[in-house]
Parts: sequence; structure tokens; C-alpha cells
Amino acid sequence: MRLKLISTKKEAGDATSFVFEPGTPIEWRAGEYLHYTLPHDAPDDRGTERWFTISSAPFEKHIMLTTRFSGDKASSFKKHLFAIKPGDVIEADGLEGDFIIDTPDRDYVFIAGGIGITPYRSILLDLDSQGKEIKGRLLYGNKDGNLVFKEELEEIAAKHPDFKIEYFIGGQKIDGEAVRVAAEELNSPIYYVSGPEPMVEAFEKTFLELGIPQEDTRRDYFPGYVWP
Ligand SMILES: Cc1cc2nc3c(=O)[nH]c(=O)nc-3n(C[C@H](O)[C@H](O)[C@H](O)COP(=O)(O)OP(=O)(O)OC[C@H]3O[C@@H](n4cnc5c(N)ncnc54)[C@H](O)[C@@H]3O)c2cc1C
Repeated sequence: MRLKLISTKKEAGDATSFVFEPGTPIEWRAGEYLHYTLPHDAPDDRGTERWFTISSAPFEKHIMLTTRFSGDKASSFKKHLFAIKPGDVIEADGLEGDFIIDTPDRDYVFIAGGIGITPYRSILLDLDSQGKEIKGRLLYGNKDGNLVFKEELEEIAAKHPDFKIEYFIGGQKIDGEAVRVAAEELNSPIYYVSGPEPMVEAFEKTFLELGIPQEDTRRDYFPGYVWP
């Protein structure tokens, strides 16, 4: 599928959103991701392919990817991605993902580590656009106060009295106790965790310790990021 870059939007900190128009109409479920191929000169050993969650909600129609850029330390892929201009076309395929709302009308505990916030923008905007009452908690951890999508997420929380956001900045850790407390006022929630691979793996253990059945968890692993 060809994706034409329409615009870029600087998000908090070192994150940017890239907004694309699909060459052919595409339907997706909030929380799914795409596989991107960006051929470029002298690729580093991480190569020319990456996966990115679609951070836009289906009703927005455009495909948005949101990612970080670490300057000189960035991969050759990211350097190339951040150099594309409106009107340029890139290739994506392989729409997939099970980090979706497949149990409507349940309560939710959403856990995000850093840029792992991307699927929640799509999921929460989608639920809100369907007129559903969102019952849940978002536990949003980040290395600093540059919280990507903070305003949009807070706009949703303001409309849904049973949906609350708690931030964990810098040294503050989302631990088992924080997860237990978040679930306390909820009715048998589904637990979602998205972020750097080692963080999500650590939460698999936390969920086990809390006695949360695996079928009540959903996990989205982002490789390539350091944690903590
Ligand atoms: C299903 C799925 C969905 C995903 N969704 C997203 C998403 O929505 N947004 C997103 O950002 N990522 C997402 N990812 C991860 C994404 O595919 C990349 O792996 C990730 O963005 C890292 O990109 P990169 O490898 O180009 O590294 P970079 O982003 O360029 O670097 C990553 C980190 O490595 C450090 N680093 C790089 N090179 C060096 C070096 N030589 N020495 C020391 N440190 C270094 C950088 O400082 C940075 O902290 C997803 C992955 C999967 C599998």
C-alpha cells in the first residue's frame, strides 16, 4: 500500500506524528499496526523495515504513525523517515494486531510506557467516537514530563467521568501495587500494557503475581527502545 505524507506534527519531547493519505482506502481496528519498508542508502544493521502502531483512530481516515527521534544516535531508518517531505510516498503493508478492544463493554486498565501510548490514542478516540462510556484507568509512565498526546487524552477523560489518567514521571514506577489500586474501583477489568519490550515482559510477571488470568491481558511489545 502506498502512503502519501500529508503533514507532520511535532508532539511532546522528541516525538513526531506523520500523517499519511492511503493510496487505496484502508479499514483498520483501533490498536492495529502496519509494517513499513523504507529503502535508503547505507542502512545500518537494523535495516530498512519497522513496525508502527496506527496512532490515528479509524474514523479519522488518515494513517498516522508517531515515533521518537534520538538525533545523532537515531537509526538510519529513523533518519530517513524524519527526512521525508509532504507529497513523498512510502510503502506499508501487513495490517495486523491483537492489541484491540475485542471485549466490548468491559472495564479497562491501560498501561503505557513512553511511546507505548500510541495505540491508546487510537483506542480511546475510537471508543469515544462510538459514544461509548469509557470505564477504566490509564497508567501512563514516561521518562520526563513530555507526555505525548496529553491534551487529547485529558479531553477524553474530561468527557468520561469513569475514565481517569494517572501519570508516573521519571523515577515514579508503575508497580504491581499501582496496578492493583487502579483496578480496585473497576469491575473485572481487562489489562492492556504497551511499551518497550523489556517493560511489557516485566508486566507479564506482575500480572502473574497479581493473579490476573492471561486471557484478561493484552500486550504490545515495542522492540528497539531502552527501558527503564
Ligand atoms: C507491533 C509494533 C508496534 C510498534 N509501534 C511503535 C510506535 O507506535 N511508535 C514507535 O516509536 N515505535 C513503535 N514500535 C517500535 C519500532 O518498530 C522501532 O523498533 C522503534 O521505534 C525503535 O526504532 P529504531 O530501531 O529505528 O531506533 P531509534 O528510535 O533510532 O533508537 C532507539 C533507541 O536506541 C538508542 N540508540 C540508537 N542507536 C544507538 C547506539 N548506537 N548506541 C546507543 N543507543 C542507541 C536511541 O538513543 C534510542 O533510545 C513498534 C514495534 C512493533 C513490533
